[in-house]
Amino acid sequence: MFYLLILLLQMKLIRQIADLNKAINKEKELGFVPTMGSLHKGHASLVNISKKKCKKTLVSIFVNPTQFNNKNDFKTYPRNLNKDIKFLKKLKVDYLYIPSVDQIYNNKQSNKIILNKSQRILCAKFRKGHFEGVLDVLNRFTSLIRPKKIFMGEKDFQQFFLVRNFIEKNYKTKVFSCKTIRDMNQVALSSRNSLLNKQNYKKAGMIAIQLINLKKLIKNNAKYKNLIKKIKSSLIKEFNINIEYLECRNQFNLSANLNNKPFKLFVAYYLNGVRLIDNF
Ligand code: AMP
Repeated sequence: MFYLLILLLQMKLIRQIADLNKAINKEKELGFVPTMGSLHKGHASLVNISKKKCKKTLVSIFVNPTQFNNKNDFKTYPRNLNKDIKFLKKLKVDYLYIPSVDQIYNNKQSNKIILNKSQRILCAKFRKGHFEGVLDVLNRFTSLIRPKKIFMGEKDFQQFFLVRNFIEKNYKTKVFSCKTIRDMNQVALSSRNSLLNKQNYKKAGMIAIQLINLKKLIKNNAKYKNLIKKIKSSLIKEFNINIEYLECRNQFNLSANLNNKPFKLFVAYYLNGVRLIDNF
């Protein structure tokens, strides 16, 4: 009896669609946390929020090839499956779904997703096809899992924004954002941080602190665009980084028109070949 109870409480590891259907077909209040693995405390915070808001929580680990616009980036993306499984067991996740690429892409052709002009900003401008890949894969996952709620990080705010609009338009599922978890030095936790050496990790922290301060200075400053320009060139010089974008956007619709509305400062940059994104 005791062992049966332990077995029932254990995290179920699922690899096949048929097993997924069997395991969750009766679940009505499922929380879903999609990830690409190499898990850290940022992912753990999403899991914990899902566990609080939903009866059961399903995490997926899937490094989605179609959202990488660069083959080498896909190849070198950090993968730590055994560590991740232990990590999620400790968090007492109910289901872990680890499908193969064939499982997700062989079965059905989904409608082609095309971003409109107003959506081709920030990362969408610099990573061609990236969000089309993200939306397509989350469409496939949502149609398989039919979760009540999906939890995503504010760290990838543009991703959250596009996914929420797309999923809530097409499903009954609600998409929630969870705040960015940072390290002591203010770097946003990210799987890609493991690709940085100690010195560059320290640099990333100093850059984050400067951007947190910049955000404070931008508030109530009519000439904020000049201020951003100045800080941008000083960051490039000081840290030898390549900045793809550093810009403010309206928090509700991502328009460049702030209109005295709450806004976010978005950044994407390369530090020694590693692409990092953040927002403040
Ligand atoms: P990824 O595995 O990088 O695809 O991320 C999976 C989910 O975790 C996404 O919704 C991310 O926005 C979220 N996430 C990543 N890093 C953080 C963080 N530092 N704090 C909160 N959420 C995060």
